[in-house]
Amino acid sequence: MKKNELISIVIPVFNEEKNLDELIARCLKTCKEMNFLFEIILIDDGSKDNSAVKIKNAATENQGLIKGVILNRNYGQHSAVMAGFEQAKGDIIVTLDADLQNPPEEIPNLVQQIQLGYDVVGSVREKRQDTAFRKISSFIINKTVQMATGVKMHDYGCMLRAYKKHIINTVLKCPERSTFIPILANYFAGSTTEIIVKHEERRNGNSKYSLFKLISLQFDLLTCMTTFPLRLLSIIGGLLSFLGVGLGVFLMVMRIIFGSVWAADGMFTLFALLFVFVGSQFIAFGLLGEYIGRIYNDVRARPRYNILDII
Ligand code: UDP
Ligand code: MG
Repeated sequence: MKKNELISIVIPVFNEEKNLDELIARCLKTCKEMNFLFEIILIDDGSKDNSAVKIKNAATENQGLIKGVILNRNYGQHSAVMAGFEQAKGDIIVTLDADLQNPPEEIPNLVQQIQLGYDVVGSVREKRQDTAFRKISSFIINKTVQMATGVKMHDYGCMLRAYKKHIINTVLKCPERSTFIPILANYFAGSTTEIIVKHEERRNGNSKYSLFKLISLQFDLLTCMTTFPLRLLSIIGGLLSFLGVGLGVFLMVMRIIFGSVWAADGMFTLFALLFVFVGSQFIAFGLLGEYIGRIYNDVRARPRYNILDII
């Protein structure tokens, strides 16, 4: 391990006053044992409890080691993490949750993988301690993401992750607002890996994600990743039209063979026509979708590439 590298630990905090003391103590202990230069960045995401005060105290007590970033209101986990990234000076950046579900003791393992040369190190929760609802929804999402991106990462929901500095710098250059950081980082990563980490039950307080917030997060994830659903409209339209034309041809042939009594005196011909028209409407939506997808891509203005080296 190169010892002069700096590690930044970025932790979003939202109403976690009961977890903060233990979190800070365990992070400090782990980091000190690692023999690295490090900084712990705690972002208070507009907590209503005493979290902000605790962060301020921790930062003054541990100057040079802990940095507090206080947001004026709640902007959501991913925005808070972005605010932390902006302050992070590290060569390696690690994110983790404040609720102690991700044990800080796993940080050295993540850092070790980064040092093997990976751009992004993800993690898979060994025995996930969450409700069945959260597990099932995550399973569906992870499978969809894997299919859509072809990137075999098993657990996008786990925020215990490590990134190389240049990946985070590129992520910060993305002006888009609806971000899902693991997806965005993977998009720019040249090589990724994942390790298995422990997962604990939430120590204090409840999950900060209500059903509604969770749904909204899933849409962030989807739109962050792909504009394929827009193209899906064209595909559906194409299929419907094809079905309509096929049915029309079938009816015509049967009518020629069996005479006009067949197919309820032309009733089914209407169905065939309907399919063609509905299908063409979908194709038109799909066409609009193609333009909207391109507008969306231009508006979010992601960097086109990430240069590693110029020789
Ligand atoms: N969090 C945040 N802002 C929010 C919601 C959550 O900063 O609006 C933080 C929260 O304090 C925790 C992390 O994001 O450190 C993950 O939240 P939580 O544990 O509630 O999510 P879950 O484990 O249920 O996915
Ligand atoms: Mg949690």
